Amino acid sequence: MSITEIKTQGLGALITTTNTDYMFKGTDISQFMGEIISEAIRENHFYMVYQPQFALGTGKLLGFEALVRCQSPEFGLVSPADFIPFAEENGDIIEIGKWIFRQALLDLKCLRQQGLDVYMSINLSPAQFVAGDVFEQVMVLLMELNIPPSALKLELTETALIRNADVAARTFRAFQDEGIQIWLDDFGTGFASINLLREFKIDGLKIDKSFVDGIHRKDDDFTICSAIIAMAQRLGLHIVAEGIEDEIQMQILGQLGCDSAQGFLLAKPMRIAECIAKWTAKLS
Ligand code: C2E
Ligand code: CA
Ligand code: CA
Repeated sequence: MSITEIKTQGLGALITTTNTDYMFKGTDISQFMGEIISEAIRENHFYMVYQPQFALGTGKLLGFEALVRCQSPEFGLVSPADFIPFAEENGDIIEIGKWIFRQALLDLKCLRQQGLDVYMSINLSPAQFVAGDVFEQVMVLLMELNIPPSALKLELTETALIRNADVAARTFRAFQDEGIQIWLDDFGTGFASINLLREFKIDGLKIDKSFVDGIHRKDDDFTICSAIIAMAQRLGLHIVAEGIEDEIQMQILGQLGCDSAQGFLLAKPMRIAECIAKWTAKLS
């Protein structure tokens, strides 16, 4: 949680995070978020949005990243950046994660039935493979929905890997043996990025938005992005740049040889109906 300010107001408090302001009773933030989460599980306040990824060279639609949202009747839209860390802490992420996989794969099936040859990239929290049986769950879902495993990618952050190296390696191998790709999210922001590439067999990297942000303005960011891309190419890894907001950022990334692109410049995350309306219209 990226809380930037807590102001006490009467019996409650105004919590300002990098994303939203939340007014609530009491000052125990983890209890507060815990209550929002358990209510959301009980009352189905979650929904999914999907942000497309495109090939940088051709502009072809490749697939979507699945991103969860929580619409609280009391607090409005609660950002996943705010509630996921608490759901990971109290274990609720296991149940939410199950729901996310089912929903995102149902929606993927829908997209594919409309004639779109796309993949779905789903964020995986460490608790899901440490405590859960995520591999079995996912394989059952893929079979039930008749989706080829190659149409699913999983995104994990570096911290998830560092803290759970052994179980992560085992789970990865099981997924990869079935043809499901494993991607490293927010690449470059952790402390062990490069070492992880030696220890784990990773299929691709997502260059973090914080490097993309300054690629056209800061020499250091440009150098870091070009080094990451050159290294990934030599290692035979795919690369997605995330958080592209400017045309010039996209041009530079293309020149550096980055494979694919995701960001508000191209499209914001959308509900499934909007994805279908927007992308299937382009097929005809
Ligand atoms: P992330 O995996 O790094 O996801 C990318 C975030 O960047 C998303 O925010 C996306 O909406 C945002 N983004 C994409 N392009 C741009 C851009 O051009 N500009 C800006 N300013 N932002 C952009 P979101 O959806 O709020 O998700 C935040 C984080 O919450 C995610 O970061 C991920 O760590 C977590 N999260 C979201 N959905 C899930 C989920 O289903 N499961 C798990 N475990 N974590 C999730
Ligand atoms: Ca991600
Ligand atoms: Ca990311």
